[in-house]
Amino acid sequence: MINLFGKKSSELKQEIHKEIICPNCLSKNTTKISVLGVYKHLFHIPFVSGGKYGASVCTNCNHTFELHAMPMTIKLAYFELKETAKTPIWFYIGLIGVKVLVLVKIFSRYF
Ligand SMILES: [Zn+2]
Repeated sequence: MINLFGKKSSELKQEIHKEIICPNCLSKNTTKISVLGVYKHLFHIPFVSGGKYGASVCTNCNHTFELHAMPMTIKLAYFELKETAKTPIWFYIGLIGVKVLVLVKIFSRYF
């Protein structure tokens, strides 16, 4: 069966943090922090935002951290980055489309 609805994620923002030292290889200025946005889609059209989550990867040793396992320094940098990462409007494009259709239907009664 084809997947008609489900969840997908998209990278909203990423940054290599200059002050963070990788706990695995002890290199500085190699930890890349990503903020990812999750959206729920129907027929592959994004409908609702499902929140954000984060991950980090060291560009030197490829060591990755999921948000729950991040050391505090990386976690703090992630929260800082997350504040500046906006949920893109196209996450709601399906919902906006439906609302527009409803409005058009309502107005077409009067005009
Ligand atoms: Zn590393």
